[in-house]
Amino acid sequence: MWTMIYKSRSESSELQILEALNTRMGLIEKDKQHYLVLRKGYDGEVLFDSMTEKLDCDCLILNDLLLRINHTVFQIDALMITFDTVYFFEVKNYEGDYYYENEKWYVMNKTEVTNPLTQLSRSETLLRQLLQQLGCHSPINAKVIFINPEFSLFQAPLGKPLILPTQVKRFLKRLNTTSAKLSEKHRIIAEKLVSLHLTESPNTQLPSYLYDEVRKGITSHKCTSFFISVKGRSCLCHECGNKENVSLALMRCVKEYKLLFPKRRVTTIEIYLWCNEIIPKQRVRRFLEKNFKIVGIHQWAYYD
Ligand SMILES: [Zn+2]
Repeated sequence: MWTMIYKSRSESSELQILEALNTRMGLIEKDKQHYLVLRKGYDGEVLFDSMTEKLDCDCLILNDLLLRINHTVFQIDALMITFDTVYFFEVKNYEGDYYYENEKWYVMNKTEVTNPLTQLSRSETLLRQLLQQLGCHSPINAKVIFINPEFSLFQAPLGKPLILPTQVKRFLKRLNTTSAKLSEKHRIIAEKLVSLHLTESPNTQLPSYLYDEVRKGITSHKCTSFFISVKGRSCLCHECGNKENVSLALMRCVKEYKLLFPKRRVTTIEIYLWCNEIIPKQRVRRFLEKNFKIVGIHQWAYYD
């Protein structure tokens, strides 16, 4: 028997951009809050992944799907296909004390929060329609998973599809006892769902920013400090002492540059300036020649 991660999770470009902007120019309160919500949600999902990947029953796991049906886009944090059921998980990384009253959810200071059950049932309905279109008639088992061990829900309702932090392990353990084998038809459904996954979310909220506003330099891989110097083959962080191979640091820098400024070209001088001139131009050129494809000639050449 085996569990297969059919689709893995990675940070959305929205989260990566916000992270880079947070380090390189700071974010206004509204954007900072949005960034922290995304960061926290993502960390919770990764924590849940670390538990599901230990399962050894016959199942296919598809993490982080963005799907569309009838012009409506919906997101699935984790989906698991077993022999006779499609499990669908909405992962919440809520922390602290919450309470439930008359179908509504509140933080302890009486601030109402979005009811995760409403969100779950909306997505479940859309998922059911989509699966039916794909010819899959397995029942759906949808659950909200509260992954943070510091989360408590007072007056938690009985009989609702909620898995509280103290129940997650037991829930997965029970799921792991599934013994029926998957067949080709399950794999075909998984493949179709992955092919329908949208890579660009229609709901991203990014602040506007200009090249000149964004701080240049190599940041520490560990602590995001800009206090970096190059010694031989390594970049050394004077804040946390972390050492990173120059090529790896350059690769991170080029990726971040391309992510933040997809319209700007990657050239030796651009990357040299982006790294705040701490890596000699010769070295930047050799790195780009080795790792990227050159397009065009002479002064019009750039790397792709
Ligand atoms: Zn550091």
